[in-house]
Amino acid sequence: MRVTFIHQSLAKLNQQLKQLALEANNPDAELIRICFAYGKAEHEIPKLAQSLGAQKVIVSHDDEWRSLQRDKQVQHALEQIGIAWQSVKDHVIFERQEVLTQGSKPYSVFTPYKKAWLQQLALNQAVIHEHSTQGLGGALAPVPSYLNCGLPTLPEMGFSDALPDHPILHPGTVAGLTAWSDFTSRIDCYDQTRDFPAVKGPSYLSVHLRFGTVSIRELARLAVSRMQKGSTGAEIWLSELIWRDFYHQILHHHPRLCEGKSFKPEYDQIQWETGAAADADFQAWCLGQTGYPLVDAAMRQLNQTGYMHNRLRMVVASFLIKDLGIDWRWGEAYFAEKLLDFDFAANNGGWQWASSSGCDAQPYFRIFNPISQSEKFDAEGKFIRRYLPELAALDNKSIHAPWMSKGTKPSNYPGPLVDHAQARIKTLERYAVVKMKG
Ligand code: FAD
Repeated sequence: MRVTFIHQSLAKLNQQLKQLALEANNPDAELIRICFAYGKAEHEIPKLAQSLGAQKVIVSHDDEWRSLQRDKQVQHALEQIGIAWQSVKDHVIFERQEVLTQGSKPYSVFTPYKKAWLQQLALNQAVIHEHSTQGLGGALAPVPSYLNCGLPTLPEMGFSDALPDHPILHPGTVAGLTAWSDFTSRIDCYDQTRDFPAVKGPSYLSVHLRFGTVSIRELARLAVSRMQKGSTGAEIWLSELIWRDFYHQILHHHPRLCEGKSFKPEYDQIQWETGAAADADFQAWCLGQTGYPLVDAAMRQLNQTGYMHNRLRMVVASFLIKDLGIDWRWGEAYFAEKLLDFDFAANNGGWQWASSSGCDAQPYFRIFNPISQSEKFDAEGKFIRRYLPELAALDNKSIHAPWMSKGTKPSNYPGPLVDHAQARIKTLERYAVVKMKG
């Protein structure tokens, strides 16, 4: 599914490039295109660079462990044939060593990190400005005719061409800009709308940020300028972009996170549920069949659209870990499979936040109540009804916990998988091992 998003985005970019060259009256406009290659990066990139007669290959930093290994292999292969390698920052505003404590240590708490991030920005406004692309269309070189580097189809590469069905998340830079321009009219009320999944509150830009079909600098620039004009919505939204940088720098400084380790090592002592009952509970969670409507509606949103609202990511993660007693890594892996915006740093950060094992995570004794979360953030059950039509007839009070309803209960919806109050007690016992060590 993510490959489909990338594939369609690249196909569109290829067209845009040709258009740019045509508009700039580039005499080779018909031959302007992207060179595509499919295979192992350490084979294909040096091969392509060599056949193009390139002197240097420039890529964007990617701090995920597997990506670092891949990049090392590509760099080595290029060096063998005398081609230079340069890796540059593009994906975030500040990275790696750019925001450190006064003692030159990485931050592991968000609020002081954010303060230092904003101070860095005040000192270096240029980081949110674009590199100029003016005149690019005229300067583009044609692809040599001896190179056969068209875009292979998805089936040729062994992928299906299905994309989940979401009204906003469409591939390509034009779709990214459309989502962005739509959000600019809503950004000022982001602080009031962002927590309510039935409302079009967030930006839906995560997938575009993930695949570079919008520019993080452009987004940050607008957020900063609105914030300077007093917009609380823009200020809160900018904080979300800073969380994104925060988790990326955490990953850079703590590569062991890629090995499934808890950020706080003592949390690896926790005994999670295992065996057939845990497998069945996990399956019910994945399918949106836990009997807790907000959790189930959220999981069905994920399964159907490849997206899940941020508030709901927190609710379902808490439910899996602290109501079902299941290892957060199972949920992390399921999100990695299903999310269109899957990003290792943010996903790992989010799951470790929910399991309390992460940097600046919620305390272990803070356990979301899935019913009160539902009553608070989907009071009229609008979001639940959208994804659980079998509950549509319930009134606004009963819809949050149908088994407590005095009226007729829907026959095609399961009862609750666990009793939240009992699960809470069990979780506090489970986490006692951490409390003793802490
Ligand atoms: P908006 O509310 O419009 O936020 C704007 C942008 O800020 C997002 O696009 C994202 O890039 C960034 N952002 C927002 N919140 C966070 C956050 N908590 N951490 C890091 N960056 C953030 N985000 C991902 O991009 N990929 C993931 O794989 C991912 N997995 C998550 C798993 C869990 C358990 C949790 C609790 C959160 C996860 N998030 C992830 C963070 C957040 O839920 C999504 O970024 C957000 O819901 C995307 O929707 P949006 O673009 O409409 O967000």
